[in-house]
Amino acid sequence: MAAAYELRCRECGKRYANAPLSICDECFSPLEVVVDLDQARRTVTRASIAAGPSSMWRYQALLPVPDDYLPTTPAGWTPLLRAPRLAERIGARNLFVKNDAVCLPTLSFKDRVVAVALANAQAFGFDTVGCSSTGNLANAVAAQAARLGLKTYILVPADLEPAKILNTQVYGATLVRIDGNYDHVNRLCSQIADRYNWGFVNVNLRPYYAEGSKTVGFEIAEQLGWRLPDNVVVPMAGGSLIVKIRKAFRELIALGLVEEKEVRFFGAQATGCSPIAAAVKNGADAIEPQRPATIARSLAIGNPADGIYATRAIRQSGGWAEDVSDVEIVSAIQELAETEGIFTESAGGVTTAVTARLYAHGRIHPDDLTVACITGNGLKTTDVLHGAYEQHAAIRPRLGDFETYLAEREQNVGDEENELELGGAYVG
Ligand SMILES: *Cc1c(COP(=O)(O)O)cnc(C)c1O
Ligand SMILES: [Zn+2]
Repeated sequence: MAAAYELRCRECGKRYANAPLSICDECFSPLEVVVDLDQARRTVTRASIAAGPSSMWRYQALLPVPDDYLPTTPAGWTPLLRAPRLAERIGARNLFVKNDAVCLPTLSFKDRVVAVALANAQAFGFDTVGCSSTGNLANAVAAQAARLGLKTYILVPADLEPAKILNTQVYGATLVRIDGNYDHVNRLCSQIADRYNWGFVNVNLRPYYAEGSKTVGFEIAEQLGWRLPDNVVVPMAGGSLIVKIRKAFRELIALGLVEEKEVRFFGAQATGCSPIAAAVKNGADAIEPQRPATIARSLAIGNPADGIYATRAIRQSGGWAEDVSDVEIVSAIQELAETEGIFTESAGGVTTAVTARLYAHGRIHPDDLTVACITGNGLKTTDVLHGAYEQHAAIRPRLGDFETYLAEREQNVGDEENELELGGAYVG
């Protein structure tokens, strides 16, 4: 059973029937999907959700997909893990990681948004779909469109990580590299979507796409035993994910599935592209666009579409935003891997480093139940660790050689530890 839903202007409230539209024709503000919660309240219970599939589609009744929609891609339902070893390092006592580094099918949370967007692309009759992307969205659209037999055009900034380019082309998508940054790419996609009548998941299908992010919030609440956390730390690119996790919590409260509670939202960005964090820190009501320069390419959106809504969500919730340097991002990728066995991409390094900073600065109380959202997989951004680990010369397969190797290694590790005692920790 699917939800009843329609489009509504976020600013003037004008209502629209379901269509591939993302901008209000009256006031040029973004449109958003509104799900009929009164109808959902009659059918959706904790038990009805628990009886659903082990994927984000267990929340189908709260997502904007057509009534008869039969999902083919089991995205989402990723682990929510306690992170005691990371917690100990950064001075936390009740820290969890929502691990979308292992979201299927393409190892980032973007699989969730694409699943909802493509369900609508099919309903609207598009035979060709696409997106503008900083990488993960490209992978998710290419894979899921292949499974649905849709033609796919994907536009990306030319400097994308090689793994993300390969992970798009392997599915047979047409990848168009643009000599420009994400904001240039996105503008071009709006023009293409109009001219060719294609379904661009984050342009004309954006209101539907964005609802897919609610499933991160639904899962966090259900996996905590139908409780809301005290704090959530969320990486921000366009600013949609953080807004939609908050919307998910509010919907669960409205449906009576969790107790009412104001969860604090903390936004994470890279200093080299931090227009939303800057607005939060400066108390500004508008986003000042930036020219991105960071290794966190999946977050490198200088003019974020939902930036102002993210800023408001953070402020209204009593949260905060922080940004961290590229050096801190790399250290944090290593720290999460070494403490919790989770290899995340640069965006996850941003989340981890910002989480550490928030505890260090007393913005989050050590006893609070805090969830850090890890949104992508480290195997896609191995280039950021280039040169971080040396390879020794291969040894012969003999015990004596191994013993020599071990003795030399212990000597080297001893030397390194002496050096480390002179250096500093990364938390700023
Ligand atoms: C796209 C992306 C984000 C941020 O998403 P927005 O909804 O645009 O803010 C975070 N992490 C990763 C890995 C992403 O690919
Ligand atoms: Zn309007």
